[in-house]
Amino acid sequence: MSAYTLQFLGAAGSVTGSKHLLTTPQGAYLIDCGMFQGERQLRERNWQPPPLDVKTLQAVVLTHAHLDHSGYLPRLEHEGYQGPIYASQGTAELLGVLLPDAGRLQEEEAHYRNRKQLTRHQPALPFYTEAEARAVLQQVRPLAMETPFALGPGAELRLRRAAHILGSCFADFKLTPPDGGAGPRILFTGDLGRIRQSSAQTMVAGPETVSEAVDYLVLESTYGDRQHPDVDIGPDLARTLAPVLGAGGVVVIPAFAIERTQKLLFLLKHLMETGAMPRVPMHVDSPMAIEAIEIFLRHGDEFNEETRELIGRYGPPQSWDHVFFDKTAAQSQAVNGQAGPLIIISSSGMAAGGRVMHHLALRLPDPKNLVVFVGYQAPGTLGNLIKSGHNPVTIFKQSVPVRAKIAAFEQFSDHADAGEIIAWLRGFPRPPRRIFLVHGEPESAAALAHRIEAELHWPTQVAKWLEEVTLG
Ligand SMILES: [Zn+2]
Repeated sequence: MSAYTLQFLGAAGSVTGSKHLLTTPQGAYLIDCGMFQGERQLRERNWQPPPLDVKTLQAVVLTHAHLDHSGYLPRLEHEGYQGPIYASQGTAELLGVLLPDAGRLQEEEAHYRNRKQLTRHQPALPFYTEAEARAVLQQVRPLAMETPFALGPGAELRLRRAAHILGSCFADFKLTPPDGGAGPRILFTGDLGRIRQSSAQTMVAGPETVSEAVDYLVLESTYGDRQHPDVDIGPDLARTLAPVLGAGGVVVIPAFAIERTQKLLFLLKHLMETGAMPRVPMHVDSPMAIEAIEIFLRHGDEFNEETRELIGRYGPPQSWDHVFFDKTAAQSQAVNGQAGPLIIISSSGMAAGGRVMHHLALRLPDPKNLVVFVGYQAPGTLGNLIKSGHNPVTIFKQSVPVRAKIAAFEQFSDHADAGEIIAWLRGFPRPPRRIFLVHGEPESAAALAHRIEAELHWPTQVAKWLEEVTLG
């Protein structure tokens, strides 16, 4: 009988719903608490009772603020979880705007579906409300990075820089059995940032190198079968957007409201001010855009040289006269009446809900317009369908013809690609006893497992949803 087990409750065989349950002889810990997104059969898992006894949970530890790692928290509280939620300072600040925003958008969408009778459920209910999201924030406890913390009996946690988004970190567990001696050391990467520097990157280059021996590694595999292009994003972006704006078109960019949006804003501003593309109005359509920008500007220490330089040169986006932050639903709707040239940046980044759905429904049918994808589009999301050429698409039960031009840029990725993951693994002092691959579509995870075994000869397995493994 082994006293240590690990169970994969999400992001196993998919990229969303990250939740891993670590059970020790003295307590149970949930690493990440993400919400499932994308295909209906995945989203329906959100509504099922969680496959764990929340009363036995000692603590929740978050690797970063993205909703696919944090968006289930209000439901966990709803199911009776009252304990602490540990996260880095940056993550804690981002959660403070992200979770209430997610709740508000779910309420807006349920309200819209009920009003337009676009629901199979009577009435459509939000997954959680803004008030429920605010309530769970009371349980968040910020932890300093790099400082060992006694999480519970026999469990020490250290958060270490992952360079994926602001505040992102690895969760490094050092476990000690009740009778003393050494227990297993297990490291969860959460999402792993880029290793090579890219011009579209916001954060300081590279996740921390792990110089201590680790027994088990829970590793993400989003881009396990791909290599990111290595070309400068600026000229590419200008070449794609300039003709559309020049002809009076509207550019819609689905983007996650934190970080991706900020980097994008500075980059577009730079291209406009240097004459690479026309200077046009930009709407950032998100209730939390302003708060998100303030948090972003507060954490300059996590940025790379280029991001710092752009911020220094152009100042805070709130002061730019051609940029508008649409906070209320009425402001958002007012954009519908505006003709191009115009840029609309709106979430969600995978067009899996949020206000961008309305902009896409309105702008996709016009061939003058352009939709630009700047992030990963999970299978089953509207973003994925549009990006892979589906036409027409269904938005709010209406068939919408896709006549607008479609472009996608992979350079913005905040995830290490396969080669970068291998390079990062080479920094380990010795092979882990086993690597568990999570957070990847089946093909990417399988390709990465194959590569690790072929190039490093380290034992690697692809985690399956709800599978429980024993840690010796
Ligand atoms: Zn992430």
